[in-house]
Amino acid sequence: MRWFDIEADITDWRFGESLNLKSRLLLPRVYCPACGQYWGSKIAADIPEPLLPQVRELLKPYNRRMPEELKRKFLQIFDEDKEDDPESQEIFRQVDMFGCISPDEFFALEGILRDIYNLPPSRLIEPGASVGPLLVRKSFHPKWDVYYDSVALYFSLPAGDELLSMGITGLELFPVYTRGGKPSEVYEAVVTGYAGLPSLVSPGGEYFQCPECKRWYLRGDHPLKVRLDESQWDGSDFFHLAWGRGVYVSERAYEILNSPFFSTEVWVSLKPMDGAWVHPDFDLAGNPFS
Ligand SMILES: [Zn+2]
Repeated sequence: MRWFDIEADITDWRFGESLNLKSRLLLPRVYCPACGQYWGSKIAADIPEPLLPQVRELLKPYNRRMPEELKRKFLQIFDEDKEDDPESQEIFRQVDMFGCISPDEFFALEGILRDIYNLPPSRLIEPGASVGPLLVRKSFHPKWDVYYDSVALYFSLPAGDELLSMGITGLELFPVYTRGGKPSEVYEAVVTGYAGLPSLVSPGGEYFQCPECKRWYLRGDHPLKVRLDESQWDGSDFFHLAWGRGVYVSERAYEILNSPFFSTEVWVSLKPMDGAWVHPDFDLAGNPFS
């Protein structure tokens, strides 16, 4: 089957400025000492459910502000052009580590949240994801039908409703609210489909799962060609892979997004993935595909 990677296309600054993030709290990021990687959320994997009082209490310790002293030292590095100094590297490390917890601590937190919200396994709970509904200014009217800002995926109300009425799968749509608590003209999408690890078509690479944080990596010393492994794919139209942060769509979703209903205001690029080249180790930066 042909499959496609969703990529950010045009930036809607007006939308970014209209969003109000105060109704949300962040899950802590994770640093894994075994693979030496910082771990943040996949795209379109927030928890836009109501921010319950016990969840607010649970997440409060992880939403502290960075100490002023550390912030000041960090900014000073750039003011004084000292990015390459050894002392600066230590400050960078402290900033990166700020608020990070271990994989085991995160798995415990994930278990508690999953119980509170009764979320099925198809709903990801990932480090750095947001919990709570998203708010937008009442005066905001989207010019787009589909929009992606490298963190989340959004649809206009008519576009989201059209997708649902066509029976598209692997998506849950949550209203983005105005400050007054009314639904706005925007949905935030959460992707629930899954396609595991793509097959490696060309020789030389291998997958590796970190024993501590359980994340998957691809190892190899040259680019590798990949194909969707239909035996691991759950058949959803919108899906994540076992590795990387991206969101991918089926051939069916691709055709719907290119149908006359959507043709003009799809502010994302859909890049063909069938036979795409993957760079091993690039997944550490969350961007494995060429
Ligand atoms: Zn790890």
